[in-house]
Amino acid sequence: MNAQKVLADLQRRFPNEPEYHQAVEEVLSTIEEEYNKHPEFDKANLIERLCIPDRVFQFRVNWMDDAGNIRTNMGYRIQHNNAIGPYKGGLRFHASVNLSILKFLAFEQTFKNSLTTLPMGGAKGGSDFSPRGKSNAEVMRFCQSFMLELWRHIGPDTDVPAGDIGVGGREIGYLFGTYKKLTHEFSGILTGKGLEYGGSLIRPEATGYGNIYFLTEMLKTKGMDLKGKTCLVSGSGNVAQYTMEKVLELGGKVVTCSDSDGYIYDPDGIDREKLDYIMELKNLYRGRIREYAEKYGCKYVAGARPWGEKGDIALPSATQNEIDEYDAKKLIANGVIAVSEGANMPSTPEAIRVFQQAKILYAPGKAANAGGVSVSGLEMTQNSIRLSWTAQEVDEKLKGIMKSIHEACVKYGTEADGYVNYVKGANVAGFMKVAKAMMAQGTI
Ligand code: NDP
Repeated sequence: MNAQKVLADLQRRFPNEPEYHQAVEEVLSTIEEEYNKHPEFDKANLIERLCIPDRVFQFRVNWMDDAGNIRTNMGYRIQHNNAIGPYKGGLRFHASVNLSILKFLAFEQTFKNSLTTLPMGGAKGGSDFSPRGKSNAEVMRFCQSFMLELWRHIGPDTDVPAGDIGVGGREIGYLFGTYKKLTHEFSGILTGKGLEYGGSLIRPEATGYGNIYFLTEMLKTKGMDLKGKTCLVSGSGNVAQYTMEKVLELGGKVVTCSDSDGYIYDPDGIDREKLDYIMELKNLYRGRIREYAEKYGCKYVAGARPWGEKGDIALPSATQNEIDEYDAKKLIANGVIAVSEGANMPSTPEAIRVFQQAKILYAPGKAANAGGVSVSGLEMTQNSIRLSWTAQEVDEKLKGIMKSIHEACVKYGTEADGYVNYVKGANVAGFMKVAKAMMAQGTI
């Protein structure tokens, strides 16, 4: 494989998709060496077949707002690769959603799902509809219209979507209800469902908890743990909330969190009571993080990210490309020892280089945040066997999966000087399983 040539071809065929190119470039640069040990892969043109999605659905979604106006948004589903299981990946509802972002996420999801040890292919979807500022009734009407198109492309053994940015329990409920009505079938078509209708315990917590389990494994390699460590968290949504919860439980301190308008810095630490307030503010009242600073009298910085504050560990949990080279240098200068990504691709390639050159512990999202989709996979299993496991059972399985992902990263990512390159480890481990399955299944 000539990684530069493959990338140049993709850029020519799919121009104006920078996030997709960025994700492909990161993977190709780390798997090239391993790939080239297998001439049979190149003969089967495996790399192009793995980079280009199996198919892309794109559709218009009409819905009526509360004032009676007909509004139009775009809907998408990218079915990237199903070599090792049904397509699986979240739906994102956010104004910034476009084909490039969803193609990057579906591509990454394929490797992440492969790492989980569960049989799941990679997919992603969503819309440029943003639930922010919309009434409950508007969100419901949008979800119903979106599913009117999506339902024909998905199925419990074909493609099983889940939540992501802007798609939480409320949205999943409306989407599920519509699918059920259209198909006259009660099946495990979505994950992240409510507990009353087939959801799994620990699914809401899974991404944040899983990230901290992964971080704990990384710290262990240095003989350290979370006790007394100060953590910088970004975001204040699903992933950020349960990341903070697990940090608190394990004796760490969280001093920042954010939303798309700015961040708060609380030097006393976000304790249990303050975290409950954030959960209520964000999940119930859909308020702004600025209100936290007003309530607890701490610093709020509008239009900025928290990476200039002092801390031992950074846990980006908001969105892609939220840590650039400048931020990464500030983190290193302030003595950060570990960065573990709850969000997908939150660090730019330049930022990753800064972390790796400083030889700190750095875990890419596709390894560290794989707990979410892992418990989604466990939700599918429970739906198939029509049983529900206890929270403790699911949590134990989640811990086991995160530990095995960590082991795979160490196995494939340890360099000559002993430094673990988690990016390379995750990419190579994820890639090899998918590649072998594709080879076994012929040129389809
Ligand atoms: P939520 O919608 O629950 O929360 C997202 C948070 O990030 C909010 O605080 C939001 O602020 C903030 N945010 C969103 N977009 C931007 C932006 N462009 N700039 C700054 N802040 C932003 O989403 P999740 O917590 O589910 O997802 C967060 C990240 O984790 C995403 O990268 C997602 O892909 C990834 N992820 C999520 C998984 C899951 O299980 N939910 C699984 C694996 C990865 P505001 O409130 O202002 O919108």
